[in-house]
Amino acid sequence: VLVGADPASQVYVRNKVKAGGEVGFRVDLERMPESASLDDVLALVERLNRSAVHDGILVQSPLPKGLGAGAQQRVFDAISADKDVDGFGAESVGLLVQNRPRLVACTPAGVIELLQREQIPMKGRHAVVIGRSDIVGKPMALLLLHQDATVTICHSRTADLPSICRQADILVAAVGKAGIVTRAFVKPGAAVIDVGMNRVTDRAVASGLFPAGHPKLASFDSKGSVLVGDVHPEVAEVAGALTPVPGGVGPLTITMLMMNTLRAAQARMSGART
Ligand code: NAP
Repeated sequence: VLVGADPASQVYVRNKVKAGGEVGFRVDLERMPESASLDDVLALVERLNRSAVHDGILVQSPLPKGLGAGAQQRVFDAISADKDVDGFGAESVGLLVQNRPRLVACTPAGVIELLQREQIPMKGRHAVVIGRSDIVGKPMALLLLHQDATVTICHSRTADLPSICRQADILVAAVGKAGIVTRAFVKPGAAVIDVGMNRVTDRAVASGLFPAGHPKLASFDSKGSVLVGDVHPEVAEVAGALTPVPGGVGPLTITMLMMNTLRAAQARMSGART
């Protein structure tokens, strides 16, 4: 469900529709105008909750500001937990807290999948998550906790962020600030997961991230912007493992959305819950 015409949301939705088609799902894009009321959006969600042909419902965020404060969470909460493929509804989150997850938020679920597939141990390790959003930071911390990591959550009020991050065996950056995680944040050999996606349009910022002659700087000069993560490229010299931006957590997030949709469909077909 896409409400309004936010340019970034249109790109995200297009990519999700495409990915669904590629794996053989039926994908219906329901567009609503910017002027839609909260009742209109809730009525659409209710119709999709009852639909026999839809296994997953995703309402793209952010919703237009005109819907009012708290509207987004009300819409997320209205999605049936069996179809909540983004995992943002209160029931999905509550089940995750209690370690009986049904459908889990895609970005953090993708990070766990990535760590498991790379055989990076989590049990007994110190994981530090920078960011405490409902969408990434909090579910990320819970998932790492359920993998028996010892978890520290950092945020904008954390004192001496670099020294806490330096204790991490696994460091997850979900901040939204280009290159904030520098070498000083990273214990040599640590696994560093860069969730951040930041479009840099200031050349001074770009040249602080990439040395003269770097292809990304050349790309900036031709396009006027460059997409970077929260992790400074210099971290590659100390990290034991590091996810790239773009091409790391981003594509995985969409893949996990497909996984959640498949699980929801299988649960319906087997008559069981996910
Ligand atoms: P968000 O809601 O803005 O949360 C950012 C978090 O970072 C907040 O908890 C904030 O702390 C913390 N923070 C901000 N400045 C900080 C600082 N200087 N030091 C320490 N912590 C700081 O963002 P989000 O939705 O979680 O997204 C985070 C990033 O991930 C963004 O770049 C977003 O684009 C990206 N993202 C990527 C994907 C993907 O598919 N790859 C998916 C979702 C998000 P407070 O709580 O104290 O304000």
